Amino acid sequence: MREAQWDILIQDGLVVFPDEKAMRNCSVGISRGKIISVGDLKRSAQRVIDATGCIVSPGFIDIHMHNEEREDPFTVQQSLLLQGVTTALAGNCGSGLFIDEYMAMIDVPYMNLALLTGHNRLREAVGITDVYKEADRREIAGMCRLLDGELRKGSFGLSFGLEYAPNTSKREIRQLAEVLTDFDRRLISVHIRCDGSACVGAVQEMIDLAKETGLRVQLSHLGSMTAFGASQKVLDMIDRARLDGVDIRFDTYPYAAFCTFIGSPVFDPGFEKRWNKGLEALEVASGLYKGRRLDEQLYARLRIEEPRTLIVAHVMDEDEMRICLRHPLAALASDAVLHEKSGHPRVAGAFPRGIRWLKDDGLSWPETLAHATTIPAEDMWIESGRIAEGAPADFVIFDPSRLVDRATFEDPLLPPDGIEYVIVGGQVVVERGIIKEPRRGAFLLRPMSLSSIEEV
Ligand SMILES: [Zn+2]
Repeated sequence: MREAQWDILIQDGLVVFPDEKAMRNCSVGISRGKIISVGDLKRSAQRVIDATGCIVSPGFIDIHMHNEEREDPFTVQQSLLLQGVTTALAGNCGSGLFIDEYMAMIDVPYMNLALLTGHNRLREAVGITDVYKEADRREIAGMCRLLDGELRKGSFGLSFGLEYAPNTSKREIRQLAEVLTDFDRRLISVHIRCDGSACVGAVQEMIDLAKETGLRVQLSHLGSMTAFGASQKVLDMIDRARLDGVDIRFDTYPYAAFCTFIGSPVFDPGFEKRWNKGLEALEVASGLYKGRRLDEQLYARLRIEEPRTLIVAHVMDEDEMRICLRHPLAALASDAVLHEKSGHPRVAGAFPRGIRWLKDDGLSWPETLAHATTIPAEDMWIESGRIAEGAPADFVIFDPSRLVDRATFEDPLLPPDGIEYVIVGGQVVVERGIIKEPRRGAFLLRPMSLSSIEEV
């Protein structure tokens, strides 16, 4: 009897196994969306990919992206796909959409997508229009009901953007968190209350929440909150809490500048003191004034007239950002967010740039790629992020001698160099910088309990 062909055979690459801290020259056989065999393979395949000179890595997993812009949901996905991201978790920083509207908006995604329910969306849904308002008992009860419904539908958990809703009470946080304790494998991601030196107290608040509820708490884009002199102290706090059995984790991106909307409370008067930097450190990243540094006049005008203008704030310390990313717990993430195709270069460059930072700091390839694969996979309790028989066939194949981010603050959507192929669900979706249609991703929905059917 003739043996069936594989769909794809990836031949002669340097295959990295981040979970085993190993790499070896071998081949990988793929069929029907799964990895079938890894080793010295000779069998024929419908398609053979010659990976000579390239690294074959599990597809990158972005645990922190944003995909909320209804007018253009796909540019963010395309930019991540071109970096080698094959799975992403949307809805961070309190802004996650409701599952039904999100799935209707996307229909078929470019990569595998999971979603967090956004606290600030829940607030809007119960009628809170003032971001500075403290929710009352009735509003909290309404949010808890909505959250319960979303978790039943497969949301991966709840995201908070506390800096954007600064008067959220401890009671509101705690009662919403309690809803998650009735479900299996759900996480809380938190953009903490404040950056700068006050971040220490804001991180402690979340360590306490994880400890008291027993839930997994993922601190969002950690370096951007702490890299003002507090990063090492916060990392030590996280290490100590974990030794005590507290399930606290974090993600971080590799740039010394953050990006958000000018109308948000982040830019309320007084920010200069938090960062010890003035308006000249703030660069307009979208709209009519794109590329200009802020002055008093422009700040005042945009705050009132164009609050959805994105601002890039060049205010963090790069050495501290690197310390955060090097920590053995750090998930390399993009925090990709766009407005009218404008934004921060992390949208198109975060993964190659983070990988370069880690390699420059002396990590091996398996150690480096773990930050983009096995670590976020563990954070999300998903099967991908490793190369093993039976695992999902999601890959990025890149030339290590050419891998570099090209996106800049002037041109934030420039794709990287060196990414040769990206494979999602056993299908080639990027070939030498070109995205192949149709879209091949799927939504990941968390089932109610371990015994029910896994993600679709
Ligand atoms: Zn955030």
